[in-house]
Amino acid sequence: MGQADFSHFWMISTLSLVISLTLISHVLARDMKAIVDEKLPVLLEFYKDLHASPELSYFEKETSEKLAKELRKLGFEVTNPVGKYPDKSLTCYGVVTIMENGSGPTVLVRTDIDALPILEKTGVPYASKVRSTDVSQEEVPVMHACGHDMHTATLLGTAQLLAGMKERWIGTLVMLGQTAEERGGGARAVLADGLYERWPVPDYALAQHGDPDLETGQVGYCPGWAMANIDMIDITIRGIGAHGARPHQGRDPVVIAAQVINNLQTVVSRSIDPVETGVVTVGSIHGGSKHNIIPDEVKLQLTVRSFTDEVRAKILEEIERITVNTCRAAGVPEDRLPVIHNRTEEFFPALYNDPELVESTVKAFREVLGEENVVRQRPTTAGEDFSEFGLTEHKVPVFMFRVGTAAAGSDPSTRPGWHSPYYLPVPEPSLRTGVIAMTTAVLNLMGK
Ligand SMILES: [Zn+2]
Ligand SMILES: [Zn+2]
Repeated sequence: MGQADFSHFWMISTLSLVISLTLISHVLARDMKAIVDEKLPVLLEFYKDLHASPELSYFEKETSEKLAKELRKLGFEVTNPVGKYPDKSLTCYGVVTIMENGSGPTVLVRTDIDALPILEKTGVPYASKVRSTDVSQEEVPVMHACGHDMHTATLLGTAQLLAGMKERWIGTLVMLGQTAEERGGGARAVLADGLYERWPVPDYALAQHGDPDLETGQVGYCPGWAMANIDMIDITIRGIGAHGARPHQGRDPVVIAAQVINNLQTVVSRSIDPVETGVVTVGSIHGGSKHNIIPDEVKLQLTVRSFTDEVRAKILEEIERITVNTCRAAGVPEDRLPVIHNRTEEFFPALYNDPELVESTVKAFREVLGEENVVRQRPTTAGEDFSEFGLTEHKVPVFMFRVGTAAAGSDPSTRPGWHSPYYLPVPEPSLRTGVIAMTTAVLNLMGK
């Protein structure tokens, strides 16, 4: 075949592909919406039940079982509990389901299922009144204040739709209910327990998160770097204790801590390329016991945000250099230099939404949800451990999109945000859009 012939052939086949995709999406969109409307009452009940009975990270036993039970009813092969935490005293209640439907791509759809230690103040009839014991044996109130209950109901709705239209797609669908997103470690725990060995390695991984910055009916996307690396760092500034009236006999760690905190403000402003992103926040400082005692040590807790490996490494290096040398400059002896500990077990890697996967999914969103309901968003320095699913040796392209949860027409400045005791998605339209969007995203990859 000559060059001219080949391009002609290519043009015709591409054109017919575009036409058939457009036709399919109209039919699909109509069918999907009809099925969602039919399923919605039961899905809403499932959501409200989860909302009223939240479970803390590491304790999601009932939620895991509820989800597994519903997925089994749909004919999925369900395994739970799945996951291994480094701390062997904890059970990981991950749920993995698989539906094989001919040879085609493998797509992973993930939801998080855990809740937060927050006292709910929404006042709705299905508000949580739950109190439970956390990992440190303290009794705390529990609330779904990040919408993971909505994500879980959305995953179930997507499963219901896809199970009901198996003639419309081909491939292997793996769905995951992931624990401990809020504490970090849930994604790593299922990967450590063989998510990519015991089940097929996905060609793509998808997730969604509710978003109070968007109105119900809207979805949001951010290609490339979308969410940040999170490091949690403990610093112990060690001085030499003394009487408060005789400071010259000690080395005051309170004053040194104040200098360290001020000096850390130069890490991003003076050491990081201004077009890059970095955050260093000292979120906690504790030291001393009484007015007239210079303590031995002061403890700081920092959170550090970045997108790239290079910026992250530079920030961590600068924090160490500045902290150690500020202490040296204050006359702290070499054997009392600060102890700096990065809690790597709580590290969240930055989320990189695969640009090609985003582009193709967003095109499908526009067709099904309407151009005006698909919103490009800026990256955020919040974090998400969904990123982990793209960071193994398999380099799976991942995409987490957002689903609007705010009442249409509500004032953005008064909307409660994530982790607020007042955060509450408007149930029906949030769930409806979430299910349609996730089903669309899957069918875009597996549809036939
Ligand atoms: Zn959260
Ligand atoms: Zn969340």
